[in-house]
Amino acid sequence: MGAGSPTKKKKMRKWNFTAGPSTLPEGVLRVAQAAIWDVGLGAGILEVSHRSAYFDGLMHELEEKFRRLGGISDAYDVLFLQGGATLQFSQIPYALTRPGDHIDCLHTGFWTRHAMRDAARYTSVHYAYDGSKDGFDHIPEAGEIAYSEGARYVHYCANNSFLGTEWAHPPRAQAPLVADMSSNLFSRLLDVDAHSLIFASAQKNLGMAGCCVVIVRRDFLEANLGPNLGSMFDYRRLAEARSMLNTPPTFALFVMKEVLVWIESRGGLAGVGAENRVKAAIVREAIDATGGFFCHIGRADSRSQVTVCFRSPSAALDEAFAAEAEALDMIGLRGHRETGGLRASLFNALPREACLALAEHILDFACRMG
Ligand code: PMP
Repeated sequence: MGAGSPTKKKKMRKWNFTAGPSTLPEGVLRVAQAAIWDVGLGAGILEVSHRSAYFDGLMHELEEKFRRLGGISDAYDVLFLQGGATLQFSQIPYALTRPGDHIDCLHTGFWTRHAMRDAARYTSVHYAYDGSKDGFDHIPEAGEIAYSEGARYVHYCANNSFLGTEWAHPPRAQAPLVADMSSNLFSRLLDVDAHSLIFASAQKNLGMAGCCVVIVRRDFLEANLGPNLGSMFDYRRLAEARSMLNTPPTFALFVMKEVLVWIESRGGLAGVGAENRVKAAIVREAIDATGGFFCHIGRADSRSQVTVCFRSPSAALDEAFAAEAEALDMIGLRGHRETGGLRASLFNALPREACLALAEHILDFACRMG
């Protein structure tokens, strides 16, 4: 069926493949709409005090659901912070390293580069793996990694949303493992215990922008937390205050709690993980079926389950594909500003139907232009 075919009915809401902020479950949006007006107190969620019994209850429910879904034990604190994943690029090395320390980094692209640019202001960085020589086309195998002696921690990015590569399992390391899971936390089963600290912005799989989750082992904090930290940098004080040292992003926390209810209704992380695998296969198989017209970016063994990056033979055709997709009610398919090409983010709330529509457009476009 060609672009703009008259048999395609206009949708009220478009299929949204954007990399974040990204699509949310429709049921969550409807609950949030109603909550803006009134949460049952004669006042809406945007107007309720974070010191109220109502909000205290919401935070308890949020943390309890988060821990249960993620399989997160009492050995960890779960924090709901502001400043995005980008603040963690500074807060982690600032709060958890001392003068003379160094950290290891597994450098797999744009987001590890940004993280290390900030980390290098506070500590020295050793690249235990540097993927730049291969254009960041894959996730390293154990033999490609050379850890240093005595690193305070190892930083890696679990899903490289700029290029569509994802670690299938956490890397093995002697030093404590710190993971940026901004684009895949809660999109699949989670191995918390392999990590000392995990952080993730909410606006991909967990809700809306404005909240960053930090899951951190208490003994890792106790061993490493520096003295005399400003209160908002001090993970222990943030944990003691249950993430409410100051006014938290109340609406973002409300939305996250509703997204967790939705994830639970889909069978938890095993359920959304299985569905995300099916969604990715639908899109990737369509790319493969174009006989080389569209190519995946990134090596087959490293491909992400939630970020599908691909390209056609030219930038002009990529642009034509994205423009036609918009006419078919599919938005957000242009690639990362640094890499170009095309990118489909298939986060939790994107329905399978959207992937089927995209697969159909991929096959149709390749047939007409190939
Ligand atoms: N890390 C990764 C892997 C990301 O995908 C992003 C956002 N796209 C960030 C960090 C930055 O997140 P934020 O804008 O919330 O600081």
